[in-house]
Amino acid sequence: MPVIESEEHRALRAAVSALGHKYGREYLTRTVEEGRPATELWAEAAELGYLGVNLPEEHGGGGGGIFELSIVLEELGAAGCPLLLMVVSPAICGTVIARFGTEEQKRDWLPALADGTRVMAFGITEPDAGSNSHRITTTARRDPATGDWLLTGHKVFVSGVDIADATLIVGRTEDARTGRLKPCLFIVPRDTPGFERRKIDMELSAAEKQFELTLDDVRLPAGALVGDEDAGLLQLFAGLNPERIMTAAFAIGMGRFALSRAVEYARDRTVWKAPIGSHQAIAHPLAQAHIDLELARLMMQKAAHLYDAGDDTGAGEAANMAKYAAAEACVKAVDQAVHTLGGNGLTREFGLASLITAARVSRIAPVSREMILNYVSHQTLGLPKSY
Ligand SMILES: Cc1cc2nc3c(=O)[nH]c(=O)nc-3n(C[C@H](O)[C@H](O)[C@H](O)COP(=O)(O)OP(=O)(O)OC[C@H]3O[C@@H](n4cnc5c(N)ncnc54)[C@H](O)[C@@H]3O)c2cc1C
Repeated sequence: MPVIESEEHRALRAAVSALGHKYGREYLTRTVEEGRPATELWAEAAELGYLGVNLPEEHGGGGGGIFELSIVLEELGAAGCPLLLMVVSPAICGTVIARFGTEEQKRDWLPALADGTRVMAFGITEPDAGSNSHRITTTARRDPATGDWLLTGHKVFVSGVDIADATLIVGRTEDARTGRLKPCLFIVPRDTPGFERRKIDMELSAAEKQFELTLDDVRLPAGALVGDEDAGLLQLFAGLNPERIMTAAFAIGMGRFALSRAVEYARDRTVWKAPIGSHQAIAHPLAQAHIDLELARLMMQKAAHLYDAGDDTGAGEAANMAKYAAAEACVKAVDQAVHTLGGNGLTREFGLASLITAARVSRIAPVSREMILNYVSHQTLGLPKSY
């Protein structure tokens, strides 16, 4: 893995950063206040080829990988306007369809996900399963008369369902031999009868909304199933590893944004003889935040390289560690940034306080800090499980 980014990657970073700064934090704050998605930024990023940079060229994408897509999300975040649905639409859904979809699903979805004209949400979390996704109960059974699928279940905290043309739902089918439930993925169009959503009142200042979903005998054609019914977890993890890598990019971008605002402030703000940034009590935590973000980015890039090279197992461990490191670095950077601004850290004018809750998202989702520590304890260190 090259530690120094290629000329091409640096050019991509600079171009996305320019787009991000054209919109900036103020744009995102306005869309949140107006209660609408960041449509203009989404459309322009798509038109410039950034949203589909990881999707195959033959289906309208850029032919790159998660490495390139993570650069896009990180730079938009560093400019103050991250697009959360990038974690879901091109990264999870686009990847899963590109790797396991039928030719028809690829033709139908990939060009539209790449050019941003269609969006796909992703629903795995369930109220009674939470972090224990082995316990999900959304069940798919076949109607023997028609061959259709009938999906029944309940999901929670699913982002962007209102603006997504469809949601990729993780359900389960019953193994005819063993009776055990196997994870399977289904494309559920937004207005399918029986597919109901209820907005969750979140204390988050974000353009994307979260929903509770009820699936009540949702009838889907046979072609709604993505991939092989018997492939089990393999197909699911093909999407979950990019999700973790992209959440790391989201967190690193946000951390960089908060840090840059704090550094700018600390350079000028003078209440004694010298700017507050000259006091080590202010400067050192900011320096530490910078180091933590840089380290997290290295792990994120390792995870992305492994994933793009086809090493799903290696990528799994690295993606978990990257998500952990990035979320912790982001939470610390945001906290320190707010503190650096004193009272101004809590004003709307400086726009940092709302990041305190936003930063926590990367610590909770898509997999919590504790579940990553569990994963590393058990999988990497071989320690026994308590649950
Ligand atoms: C803003 C936002 C957007 C989201 N978007 C989506 C989306 O688009 N699609 C989707 O499917 N989901 C989404 N989620 C859901 C998210 O993935 C879950 O919130 C997350 O997986 C945690 O599940 P939970 O909230 O049920 O917490 P719980 O599983 O109830 O966990 C609660 C606490 O207990 C801890 N805990 C649980 N088990 C253990 C254990 N064995 N050992 C130690 N500690 C443990 C957890 O770490 C956590 O701190 C989103 C969540 C948020 C907040």
